[in-house]
Amino acid sequence: TPGIRPLIAGNWKMHGLAADGLALARAVAAGAAGVGAELLVCPPATLVAAVAAALAGTPVAVGGQDCHAAPKGAHTGDIAAPMLADAGARYVILGHSERRAAYRETDPTVRAKAEAAITAGLVPIVCVGEPEDDRLLGRAEEVVAEQIAGSLPPGFGAAGGVVAYEPVWAIGTGRTPTEADIAAMHAMIRARLVAAFPQHGGGLRILYGGSVKPANAAAILALPHVDGALVGGASLVAEDFLAIARAA
Ligand code: PEP
Repeated sequence: TPGIRPLIAGNWKMHGLAADGLALARAVAAGAAGVGAELLVCPPATLVAAVAAALAGTPVAVGGQDCHAAPKGAHTGDIAAPMLADAGARYVILGHSERRAAYRETDPTVRAKAEAAITAGLVPIVCVGEPEDDRLLGRAEEVVAEQIAGSLPPGFGAAGGVVAYEPVWAIGTGRTPTEADIAAMHAMIRARLVAAFPQHGGGLRILYGGSVKPANAAAILALPHVDGALVGGASLVAEDFLAIARAA
């Protein structure tokens, strides 16, 4: 989208011990010079602080992969948004389909987490996307519109929130929607963002995620209203992640 700097975000998921995670982060930073897109890596929570320290002074930002909706409290095993911010994160991925599936995160849950993230000064990256049966039934845009309506809190636009469209069936499968289907979905999401956040919606970033790799990145990132990518598997290989970023 004209006037929007693309964001290329790497979701490392549950990958990375200290040695390889820090090496990956450093390799991304080493290749960041001259990349026009903003770069973001989202390591597992155990590495957020160390990766943020290693990337200090580089253009590569750090994010978390989830946060709790409460700022603190009796929630064994959970991580609060202020903790991520304190560790050096600037972004947090929320409502990833793996969390919606494995932890039954609903739209209201994701919305509450996004609100907590904004309060903590983090930029939420809210993931939406249809399961394959909804795509086959022609209900993909309807399902995603419902997720958008339910998952974004009122402060989302002013906070510069990011939406990541990730069709569930395209994640980690090597399959992607057609370019026409991606463009149609992103145009729908843009319209919803503008309607919900009249002041900011036109400038918010809408990422595509789902089997983005160097070979398909340029074509996907050239589509209207595709303002970057959320990259899973390919973000674990620095050269691949950087090749995707250079395609933006
Ligand atoms: C993801 O899980 O956010 C993702 C897009 O994964 P992959 O790139 O591996 O499909």
